[in-house]
Amino acid sequence: MLAERTRAPLEPSAAIERFLASSGLPAPYLVLDPAVVADRYAQLTRALPDAAIHYAVKACPHPEVLACLAALGSAFDVASPAEVRLALDAGAHPDRLCYGNPVRGPADVAAAHAAGVRRFVTDSAEDVRLLAAHAPGARVLVRLLVSDDGSATPFAAKFGAARDEAVALLAAVGDAGLVAEGVAFHCGSQQVRPDAFAAAAREALDVAAAAGLNRPVLDVGGGFPVAYRDPVPEIEAFAAAIRDAAPDVPLLLEPGRLLVAEAGVIRSTVLRVSRRPGVDARRWVYLDVGRYSGLAETEGEAIAYRLRVPGRTGPCEAVVLAGPTCDGDDVLYRRTPCPLPLSLAAGDAVDLLAAGAYTASYASVGFNGIPPLPVHIAR
Ligand SMILES: *Cc1c(COP(=O)(O)O)cnc(C)c1O
Repeated sequence: MLAERTRAPLEPSAAIERFLASSGLPAPYLVLDPAVVADRYAQLTRALPDAAIHYAVKACPHPEVLACLAALGSAFDVASPAEVRLALDAGAHPDRLCYGNPVRGPADVAAAHAAGVRRFVTDSAEDVRLLAAHAPGARVLVRLLVSDDGSATPFAAKFGAARDEAVALLAAVGDAGLVAEGVAFHCGSQQVRPDAFAAAAREALDVAAAAGLNRPVLDVGGGFPVAYRDPVPEIEAFAAAIRDAAPDVPLLLEPGRLLVAEAGVIRSTVLRVSRRPGVDARRWVYLDVGRYSGLAETEGEAIAYRLRVPGRTGPCEAVVLAGPTCDGDDVLYRRTPCPLPLSLAAGDAVDLLAAGAYTASYASVGFNGIPPLPVHIAR
């Protein structure tokens, strides 16, 4: 068997490097390069030319990112009326939106329907009743619960119906006067196993067949991984696994992370480097960004960003990396290796690479008085 081709961690784009070197803007901030988003979109389009790409807005809802994708013809996966509005403002036609979050209230469904959204994902009988009442005529995909083994940030069964219930829900969708269009799944975010997609696609097609759908749409969700520190399989490996399991089926993809992570770098500043005699043999490095200013995915150390210290060289030693707030959970990495230069000092810049996904959108509005992470665009 041929070894699977992998993708190694990428360096930031030239535009981002120029911005970091010359903007003079105060840290912390996230800088984004929409040209990288466009590049990732093009690569995914080449890998699965006939699939409809619905960018998952929550990964990075910056208007420039959405406008760049809308201009390229992308569709959007939205999770709330506010995300519907963002996608429409970016130039998307409501036909191109799929409301993928099955947890919502009647006012959310009605607002999305009033804005022209006609495609929804569901996973419960309760939600099907809501759709029938507030989104008459909508096309509906039923989300199937699938394995998320291999995912760094799994959904852990929060969403999705088990097989028999999914079959029953497709029937209920039709009975409610809605259009049963197909089956959706999501194998967990930062999913590094192409087989996870293949197995889930087979199960989803089996559900569609059992429900008697004759030309089902298959929504394979997002989850496509990014090389943060370690290589991951190339997107072509995921495309091949999906097409092998589901040849000739109309496909929807909902990538989030894959399109935006490598388009962003967080520039932070060291607030303090502490020796902590009697507490830890390692230095503790406190940054001006943390769990509440965009680094939510460091919870459980699920996502390990690559770090770089511009302007410092010399021998490195492991540190514990912590955020700036008074919360004990605001420690980014205790176990994840973080070797940083022994010469590191307060006031130094530290960059977190491939940090464009699930960062700015997760920053709190002001925990401990720390404002949301500013976002700048590199051109
Ligand atoms: C978050 C989410 C996505 C995007 O997932 P990624 O792992 O970032 O690709 C896609 N679809 C749904 C329904 C989601 O909730």
